[in-house]
Amino acid sequence: MAVHVRGNEYDLLMSNDLNDRSANSNTTQWFHFAVWNAQPGVTYKLNLVNFSKPASLFGDLQQQLASLMLHCSLRLPPGQPSPVVRSLLCYTLTGQRCDMLTITDFAASATELSSREYVVITARVHPGETCASWIAQGAVDFLVSDDPLAQRLRRCFVFKLVPMLNPDGVVAGNYRSSLAGVDLNRCWDKAIQQLHPTIFHARKLLEALVDAGRLALTIDIHGHSSALDAFFYGCEPLLVKPTAAERRETKAAAAAAAAAAGSVLTALAVGRLAESDDQQLLAV
Ligand SMILES: [Zn+2]
Repeated sequence: MAVHVRGNEYDLLMSNDLNDRSANSNTTQWFHFAVWNAQPGVTYKLNLVNFSKPASLFGDLQQQLASLMLHCSLRLPPGQPSPVVRSLLCYTLTGQRCDMLTITDFAASATELSSREYVVITARVHPGETCASWIAQGAVDFLVSDDPLAQRLRRCFVFKLVPMLNPDGVVAGNYRSSLAGVDLNRCWDKAIQQLHPTIFHARKLLEALVDAGRLALTIDIHGHSSALDAFFYGCEPLLVKPTAAERRETKAAAAAAAAAAGSVLTALAVGRLAESDDQQLLAV
């Protein structure tokens, strides 16, 4: 919301997430804003009033990211059979489609297709993280392209992409919550079909692939409000308190796994991979 203060000065206030049920009920953050009808040569003063994280990356507006994006466009190479199939993962609470893209080389035999491993990529569970859509769009653009590496990836893997896990939150203009006012990224272990349908069905997909022993990698793309550059969080199954030596070992293994996953994501997002990294990518 913009409030005219005087002359060319405005206070800008963010709305809290709709139905926010978090502890402080003030989930909000700046990721993007735009100005319309500004006059050239005129100085405007915009006061960003209610930061919830004053020290975060986006607090000083270093990032001017694309506006909310509910679509994911495709540019297919001409004259070739489509390597992508769009299907419905589920409907959201408001009846929005939660789409899933399946990308692979469908020209392979049924036997070969049934032996391929899967890479599952999800994004935008936090609706305010528009940068996650930017990465997901880059992944889709690259994977359906005629780049030789993309073609090899399609012959090696089946990619399942859910570019937007929280369409309702995006439509509502929320920063972090779903329409039910919950952080869907905290519901993976307790997803309820009626309340968290996108997480429920995405988890069912992952569980089916794990049970079949065919899940090679899963990546959930986020933006971060304070961490810089690109980075990865990995899972560390710490069911028993580890010794210091085990912690060091786990840390090294996690770093190696993150580096390997980083090679894949970098290739997907940027659409380029140095030849020297090629074997590492295919080994993931
Ligand atoms: Zn996030």
